[in-house]
Amino acid sequence: MDSRLISLRMRASLCGHHLCGAERIVAEGEVVAATTTMVTRAMQGAGALPDEVHCSLERLDPASIRLVSLPDVATFEVSDWQSGRRLAKQLLTRAGVSLEAASFALDLLAAGPGPDGTVMRGAVIMNARTGERLETDAGRGVRVSRMDLEASVRPAIESMLAAAGLGHHRVAEALVLAAKVLSAPGIVAEVCWSDDPAYTTGYVADPQYGYQRIAALKESGDLRGGRVFFVDPETTLDTLGDYLEFRPVLCNALGRISPPTFWSE
Ligand code: AMP
Repeated sequence: MDSRLISLRMRASLCGHHLCGAERIVAEGEVVAATTTMVTRAMQGAGALPDEVHCSLERLDPASIRLVSLPDVATFEVSDWQSGRRLAKQLLTRAGVSLEAASFALDLLAAGPGPDGTVMRGAVIMNARTGERLETDAGRGVRVSRMDLEASVRPAIESMLAAAGLGHHRVAEALVLAAKVLSAPGIVAEVCWSDDPAYTTGYVADPQYGYQRIAALKESGDLRGGRVFFVDPETTLDTLGDYLEFRPVLCNALGRISPPTFWSE
């Protein structure tokens, strides 16, 4: 592994409202090109022109970098988003989340998990047994940061995802985020759907079954979305938050990608 790796982070906002962000871990020689790509995304791919774009660069201590595998990927086609949410509930309970917590989380994302039904910038942390919300700031939540694909596996992963019809950068980035989340102490499962009104696919991830895409988890046009990380009730939140935000993680191994299957109830 390159011993001079840099964490690059970008976030773009408009009138204080988060528009988009990106995370990379790159070799020194890649910093300029990767930063240009990030800023281009901020200026052209956020749906609105940001009035603030922040990029940060930070040299990483090679000894602090953890290597993890990407999870396996499965895709479930569903007849509509209501059916998708029933499937999500089933996958979450199979992973060890109580029915009460799973139902509460899905209702929360449907209503907008931030204050007054807004979208959060990060994720909800939820007790997997009781459904209690544990994050200290309900507007920001916990942001997963400092993760990427390891450079040597990037081409193989990108071509595998593209061959499976999953070539959009959104999929690779969500997969890397889920890989880091699943490697964190105390994580039972994750559920996510986007706040992008045009993107209705979401996922449930858990350590055993991996990253399980669900083709529809919300109605097209809906501006609400978010992420919930379900944790074991014994989890030390400071340790978890510290790992998710600060520990650099590189994904260096492929998971298996299964062809889509139709889920019927
Ligand atoms: P996205 O899939 O990028 O549309 O994000 C969906 C939701 O996930 C956002 O509304 C945030 O609440 C949350 N989210 C996005 N990025 C992160 C992150 N890096 N860490 C934690 N939560 C995130």
